[in-house]
Amino acid sequence: MSALLLNIAPGDEVIIPSFTFSSTATAFTLRGAVPVFADIRPDTMNIDETKIEHLITPKTKAIVVVHYAGVGCEMSFISSIASAHNIPILEDNAHGLYGTYRGQLLGTIGSLATQSFHETKNLSCGEGGAIVINDISYLSRAEILREKGTNRSRFFRGEVDKYTWVDNGSSYLPSEITAALLLAQLEEASSIQMKRRNLWQGLFDSIGPWADRRGIQMPHVPSYCEQAFHMFYLVMPSEKALVDLKRHLASRGVLAVTHYVPLHSSPYGVAVGRGECPISDDISARLLRLPFFTDMSREEFEVVVAAVTSG
Ligand SMILES: *Cc1c(COP(=O)(O)O)cnc(C)c1O
Repeated sequence: MSALLLNIAPGDEVIIPSFTFSSTATAFTLRGAVPVFADIRPDTMNIDETKIEHLITPKTKAIVVVHYAGVGCEMSFISSIASAHNIPILEDNAHGLYGTYRGQLLGTIGSLATQSFHETKNLSCGEGGAIVINDISYLSRAEILREKGTNRSRFFRGEVDKYTWVDNGSSYLPSEITAALLLAQLEEASSIQMKRRNLWQGLFDSIGPWADRRGIQMPHVPSYCEQAFHMFYLVMPSEKALVDLKRHLASRGVLAVTHYVPLHSSPYGVAVGRGECPISDDISARLLRLPFFTDMSREEFEVVVAAVTSG
């Protein structure tokens, strides 16, 4: 829907961080856009704000940011570049719901933002998502796009006496069943976030001293960001150290996994996009995610901490 609202057409360019999930890019490549990959910062794994401006061309139609692990990107800097060039910002806020950047909720800063309620996210309805419209000029068309190109929303409000096909679109609405699941999650959001905060802080405090001794990088949250507690990761000093820790954890029954294969070096990214992102490649080889989920029990938490700190 974001790509449709932004009128993305073949040959347009969209700036996207390389260290993200394919969905961030496919929204645009589906419309024929060229993903121009920006590298990330080695501290937050977020798009490197200093590497955006030189990627802008007359064809650039959007700057997409991903708040990795729910920690805000450098939005003041990015917003000033975007407004200087009159290019809209889209926040892929799949990780960032309830996080803030300088007091502002993530997902409310760009012209548009997208949420995911996939089973791996903080709040889930199995499969589902939402679009957040911050620039109100996109609102009336968004209502039509999500309703198969009809003005049914106006009909529901009693503004027209029948609804009809008025624009392009598809079926982007959740089913009632999916929406009911999501509503129950939204009602529990503060307790879900509280549990995740406690777990995250517990992991950080318990693993920190061990990580320091081994030169392992812990997650970095700038003082002006309140994170969304989406994941817990370690950046190992080398790829070998990652493989060794992963194997050690597996031997103790703890599943730890790497994360994104950078899009710029993925088969489809190479075919349709462009951009060199050495930091994304390097981080991808060294970043390991630890088990982290809302209903993790005290026992599970202890098992993970004991396994990690004996590695
Ligand atoms: C999970 C995720 C998505 C995709 O969400 P879907 O609900 O599967 O479309 C997009 N971007 C990021 C960064 C994600 O983590």
